[in-house]
Amino acid sequence: MKSLKSIVIATSLTSLTLVVTILIGTTATIYYVHQTLGEIEEALPITLARQERDAGLLISEVSELVYAVHMAQSNPGRNEIEAVRGGVEKIEKHLEKIRESYSFNDLIGASAIHATINPAIFDVGEWITHGIYNFPPESPQTLQLVEQRATDANRDAQALYQEAADTALQILSLQSYRMGRFRTITIATLAILSIVSAVLVFFIIWQQHTFHALQQSEKQIRFRANYDPITTLPNRPKFIEHLSEAVAQSKRTGGLTALLFIDLDRFKNINDTMGHDLGDELLRQVGVRINECVRATDMVARLGGDEFTVLLPYLPDEMRASLIAREILENLSRSFLLQGHEVYTSASIGITLCPGDGDDARTLLKNADMAMYRAKEMGRNTFRFFTSRMTARASRFLELDKDLRSALKQNQFFMEYQPIYDLKQNAIAGVEALLRWRHPEKGLLAPDTFIPVAEETGFIVDMGLWLLQRACEEAVIWQQGGLETRPYLAVNISMRQFKGGFGREQVAAILEETGYPAERLVLEITESLLIEEDKRIYYTLHDLRNMGIKLAVDDFGTGYSALSYLRNFPINLLKIDRSFIRDMVEDEGDARLVETIISMARGMGLTMVAEGVETVEQRELLRELACKMVQGYLYSRPVSPKEINVLLHEEVAARLPALRSTTLIV
Ligand code: C2E
Ligand code: CA
Ligand code: CA
Repeated sequence: MKSLKSIVIATSLTSLTLVVTILIGTTATIYYVHQTLGEIEEALPITLARQERDAGLLISEVSELVYAVHMAQSNPGRNEIEAVRGGVEKIEKHLEKIRESYSFNDLIGASAIHATINPAIFDVGEWITHGIYNFPPESPQTLQLVEQRATDANRDAQALYQEAADTALQILSLQSYRMGRFRTITIATLAILSIVSAVLVFFIIWQQHTFHALQQSEKQIRFRANYDPITTLPNRPKFIEHLSEAVAQSKRTGGLTALLFIDLDRFKNINDTMGHDLGDELLRQVGVRINECVRATDMVARLGGDEFTVLLPYLPDEMRASLIAREILENLSRSFLLQGHEVYTSASIGITLCPGDGDDARTLLKNADMAMYRAKEMGRNTFRFFTSRMTARASRFLELDKDLRSALKQNQFFMEYQPIYDLKQNAIAGVEALLRWRHPEKGLLAPDTFIPVAEETGFIVDMGLWLLQRACEEAVIWQQGGLETRPYLAVNISMRQFKGGFGREQVAAILEETGYPAERLVLEITESLLIEEDKRIYYTLHDLRNMGIKLAVDDFGTGYSALSYLRNFPINLLKIDRSFIRDMVEDEGDARLVETIISMARGMGLTMVAEGVETVEQRELLRELACKMVQGYLYSRPVSPKEINVLLHEEVAARLPALRSTTLIV
């Protein structure tokens, strides 16, 4: 780039010098020649006039001489002879003067005329005087001769004068013709020169322009190499460079450096549904929001996609890192305005510290990434510090994924069922199917340990279909055999399944095959599904609802808890999360919260289910709050299909005297 720059400058300078030299040289030459021609033009008429005058004078002097000779012939007195002599002398003197004044020969045009006229005049003059001096003037013959000669001379002088004047005229017109041609040539030369210089100037400008463009692209390339074009934040290489420096610094001084790894929750959705332009705009604004939370010495970078990082050097303690992380989460949770659309997003943040979580930039980054994933698993919109346990967790994760795939083939999965009771009727209103895994080495595994992995890997899509089918098959069995109350079957469907194409057709096929009625099926979904800005999910839920299937929102209160969202979806049941029920007896605030949720849900026509009811106090409080249904260890733990069958029929038997067919209306 450097050599290119100097070449461009050198050629530009050379071209410029060339143009200036040519212009000055040509202009000077033209000016000089023009000036000279002008002088000639001016001098020519003056010279001609003078010669004309001289010739005219000579002619009249000769005429006077002829007259004097005439007089001397008729009366040859002394005076008359003197007059002849005087006339001759006058001519002689005049010729002398002419000879002197015509001796200069500096002007081309003048000298041409000079050369033509002068010899003629001299010839005439000399001829006359010669004739006079050779003969004595007193004699009549001499006079006769003088007269004769003078008359001839007069005639010849006139003829010569005429001839000279003609020649002069010719020269003059030739001269002006040449002058005209010179002017044309001058103008043409100037025109060509202006074109040449214009081309050169254009060339210089073009070169400068090209050079400027090159410089710009060079700048852009340099920018590209270090900065992200969308957010103009430093990019991955630049960030790693700074991170490495900070790590080295920390090692030297023992100071604390933190690295935040920020990943937007559900960004892909925004990008897919609102378009890439708006996605980019969101990223830009997110970059600005993150920057608002950090100090001038900190660095915010975009690693790519929806991943951002923050480098926090010279930290007083790790608390500071968590405070900044929280501030970033808060700042990102405010709405974003994207071309008139109000959009909400949240982020998950992983934090690593140096010294402690890694000796080099890459390890710190990898571990922060892992901590970020943990934050996502914790329900998003939160942050997690890296712990070395996570590394162990990560390798467990991979192992588990491998096992999951073989588990389905080897029939290691099975279902347990937990009854859901109607508080008023004191009868089983529904049964929730819960997945179990009998691992050949690890024994019985709870879903919390493997469902997040199955969701992450997408395996849940296949597994979900299998378990829905299994639950329906088993439910068909325990709904036979004289069962008067017909409890519904609740099956959990995770968000990942909806994204994997779970919907009307698949459910219809399973219902058809198993013969289980759609009206007795409840699908439990999570709140997070409802805030997905994915129209397909919205339509799928409506499709399922139109088939007669009912929908329940699970774990209500742990996520977005926005009742307003529920209004837009065809929801039938609301399950209040276990955590509220657990604390509601001791914590008045929680009790009031549950009360509010119940009354609002009732207003929206939703049936309430309380999860995790373990004590009589909890049950009584829920009864007071007019909660319709309860589920929990107080009633029953999740049990095997066989046991649930017994439970259902025992219940019928126990209540036989007052047997009443309760048709569940949810
Ligand atoms: P969940 O949908 O909220 O299921 C209820 C969980 O609460 C079950 O845990 C159940 O055993 C537990 N539980 C019920 N009563 C009580 C109680 O009184 N006290 C306490 N402490 N816990 C109680 P489980 O079976 O371990 O399932 C955990 C989670 O795994 C479920 O939460 C659900 O989100 C997921 N899961 C279970 N089976 C499936 C499935 O088939 N598909 C999908 N997608 N997710 C499932
Ligand atoms: Ca559930
Ligand atoms: Ca639940």
